[in-house]
Amino acid sequence: MSELRLNIISKDWVIIASDRAKRPEDFKKEKQIEVVPAYQDNCPFCLGNENVFPNIETSCIEKDGIWRVKSIYNKYPALSPDKNPARAFDGLENLIEGFGVHEVVIEHPRHDLTIALMPDDDVLNILKVYVDRYRFLKKMDGIEAITIFKNQGLAAGASQKHPHSQIVATPIVPPQTRTRLDNAVRYFDTTGKCVFCHMLASELKGAKRIVKETEKFVSFVPFAAAAPFIIWIFPKRHMPSFADIDCVELVDMVNILKDALLRLYHGLDNPDFNYTIRSVPVNENGQAYFHWYLAIVPRIAQPAGFELGSGIFINTTIPEDCAKFLRQAQ
Ligand SMILES: [Zn+2]
Ligand SMILES: [Zn+2]
Repeated sequence: MSELRLNIISKDWVIIASDRAKRPEDFKKEKQIEVVPAYQDNCPFCLGNENVFPNIETSCIEKDGIWRVKSIYNKYPALSPDKNPARAFDGLENLIEGFGVHEVVIEHPRHDLTIALMPDDDVLNILKVYVDRYRFLKKMDGIEAITIFKNQGLAAGASQKHPHSQIVATPIVPPQTRTRLDNAVRYFDTTGKCVFCHMLASELKGAKRIVKETEKFVSFVPFAAAAPFIIWIFPKRHMPSFADIDCVELVDMVNILKDALLRLYHGLDNPDFNYTIRSVPVNENGQAYFHWYLAIVPRIAQPAGFELGSGIFINTTIPEDCAKFLRQAQ
């Protein structure tokens, strides 16, 4: 028996195709072991190649005179700050010049590391740069939203092997964020509660889909996960913007993020994945009803025609089984 499940935050419907369900362990790929060097002389992000591939830094954390993590302007940006953010609206044709900011966070001097396997201090530095850039970019005139995301592996759209993530500040609110915000406002109007806090409380109470709980965060597989092994990481404290995170939470976020990525790494043999931080748009108040979170999406099942045509996803795993599998993967 399959079932249709509704995601109360996005209002997306998902078909949990349990008749066709695969066991979680069936997704474990026997990957060819690829030997990645710690340094590669043609990599623009490797330590020591800075003069060969010069970049404009926007933030940097150093230790003993050597950079540990830094953000730079993307050499091939999707959007640039020197453009005009004004809108031209002429009925059908609504456009803005390519205004915005597109940065790359080079997560580590070494070419061969992944966040799951990095020392805690290095992961903390990455998160510190995320927050630093988020807080800076949100003050820029013309910026409406900031998306922090990571593509790891070819199936996730990564063009560089060197560990990195990206930050894109846009002059518009992305439609996915707008939808979540609208749904959250309506939920608040009806119940007087934050829908995210409600979801978190229900997940903790039911305990069927929890992956890990730390002092400040909870990771879980959502009830209506659109694809196998999606993990959401919610801060326990209600806060609309990623910019609101405090120092203690940042340290604990290292624990929960590494834990989730390590479970995927061991449980599914280092799958390609994306993650993104979903935060309230910068000019929205959102105080009572929006709640930022981080979503991890392993790229082990590709959407096909039905998903494209209907916007309804088919998940061939059962979220409760995925959570159980991840709890046991270490
Ligand atoms: Zn490199
Ligand atoms: Zn909340």
